[in-house]
Amino acid sequence: MADLILRGGSVVDGTGAATFEADVAVEGDRINAVGELSGLSAEREIDASGLTVSPGFIDTHAHSDGVLLRDAVHAHGLVQGVTTEFITQDGLSYALLTEENLDLYGRYIAGLYGPPPVGLDVSTMAAFRSHYEGKGCNVAVQAPHGPVRLESVGFEDVPLEGEGLNRAARIVAQAMEQGATGFSTGLSYYPNSFSNTNELVALNSVVAQYDGVYVTHIRNHNNERAPEGSGIVEAMNIGRRSGVKVHISHYRTFPGNAGDLDSIMAEVDQAKSDGVDVTLECYPYAAAATVPGYFLRGECHVGGVDRLLERLGDSAWRERLVDSLENLFPGRSDSATWTWIGAEHLKHLEGVSFADAARMLELSVSEMTLKVMRESGLHCGFRDGMPASASVVRQMEADVMALLSRDDYMVGSDGIPFDEGVPHPRAYGTFPRIVGRLRRRTGVSLEHLVRGMTSLPASRFGLTDRGVVAEGKFADLVVFDADTVTDTADFNDPRTPPAGIPYVLVNGQVAVDGGKPTGALAGRSVP
Ligand SMILES: [Zn+2]
Repeated sequence: MADLILRGGSVVDGTGAATFEADVAVEGDRINAVGELSGLSAEREIDASGLTVSPGFIDTHAHSDGVLLRDAVHAHGLVQGVTTEFITQDGLSYALLTEENLDLYGRYIAGLYGPPPVGLDVSTMAAFRSHYEGKGCNVAVQAPHGPVRLESVGFEDVPLEGEGLNRAARIVAQAMEQGATGFSTGLSYYPNSFSNTNELVALNSVVAQYDGVYVTHIRNHNNERAPEGSGIVEAMNIGRRSGVKVHISHYRTFPGNAGDLDSIMAEVDQAKSDGVDVTLECYPYAAAATVPGYFLRGECHVGGVDRLLERLGDSAWRERLVDSLENLFPGRSDSATWTWIGAEHLKHLEGVSFADAARMLELSVSEMTLKVMRESGLHCGFRDGMPASASVVRQMEADVMALLSRDDYMVGSDGIPFDEGVPHPRAYGTFPRIVGRLRRRTGVSLEHLVRGMTSLPASRFGLTDRGVVAEGKFADLVVFDADTVTDTADFNDPRTPPAGIPYVLVNGQVAVDGGKPTGALAGRSVP
């Protein structure tokens, strides 16, 4: 007798193989049989006829570091079929920080994660990972570049070399020994962007020794530090020089190059033909989301959060700050919208575009942005506006699906979930949007898409016995209706749950039942 049987479903097993009809039996935390199981009974039987049964989805890029510590159930990921999330992305996280640096960096990255937990021991990767045991989903991590730099040379614009580099390399090695799947950076964020290519080659040589993965949001700050001034060339060179496996975060076209996949993939394909081991990921929306510090040049960040806040209020810095906002990403900020602001007196600006917020406060867009950053203590985030033309949006979505048709592409939501404000819908709809709405529109094979969400990331990042529906594997499973599954979250109403995903299992426990989260906390710190 099994604990549970999913009866009569169409199994998409995660390997890319053709769909087959089978029962799937679960005992404890594992799948104990797949096939014609009419002779086997179970404590609970779920009729999966007419439905697809696949491995639980793996989100390779989730900014859930903060929200998972406040809300263990993590319903918004589970209801999409996500059973494992990779946090610590873009080199921005709490991991590996001493108490003092947790206070400093926690405030610096609060626009992404909310206020940091107080008194949490995150000083080693083992300690950090222990806080993510027993959540709704499984959680995997990388050693984040920002904390590694902070702990070795502080928040300074200096290259890591000599003793500083040795210290950083030791931190990375210890993190790999304690369960990190690799090393992550975001080279538009600080202090990460104070690095140069040599530093990244040196640290990734350590990662390569542990067979880990270099996960990178490629450089678009301090580009003169990259070979040919190009973030993607730099990433490929790091793979060539260190031998590390490279994984490019949220890599897709933009409104300016929509439809021209060659413009983003030529360098990658050249490197791959030279023997660099590269995988990539993307999310299916034509607009991004981040924190406004993204618009500020390195000089504004030197010294860390308190120095930055001082500069935001210092008239001697005003011109440089405004110049940075207006020149780093010209035109981008006017169409942006505040997603979340952690200051009571500015809450009314959540969901308001930068242009409207500026009018309301009778300031320029730049002055308004600086005021919100300063008065919220950097507790603020925004999302970009969608392109005005539906044809551009649809082309960018077609590009995403073409990228996901490749053998080397995974799905990372880049979700920044917040239980208040007006967040980007990608945290609430990415997986059903791809496997439902966009698959049906573009005709990309379901088996191939599921592979990119399951066995491909599991094998890439060394998640043992996950990502495949087969006897003996962990019972991370999602049951969905391939004909109707879809996202419902949009930019006006971003937190609505998807439709067509009745059941999700995490380590054999029913985490979503009839489309509703059960509250089960069966997730583990993996691998
Ligand atoms: Zn990100």
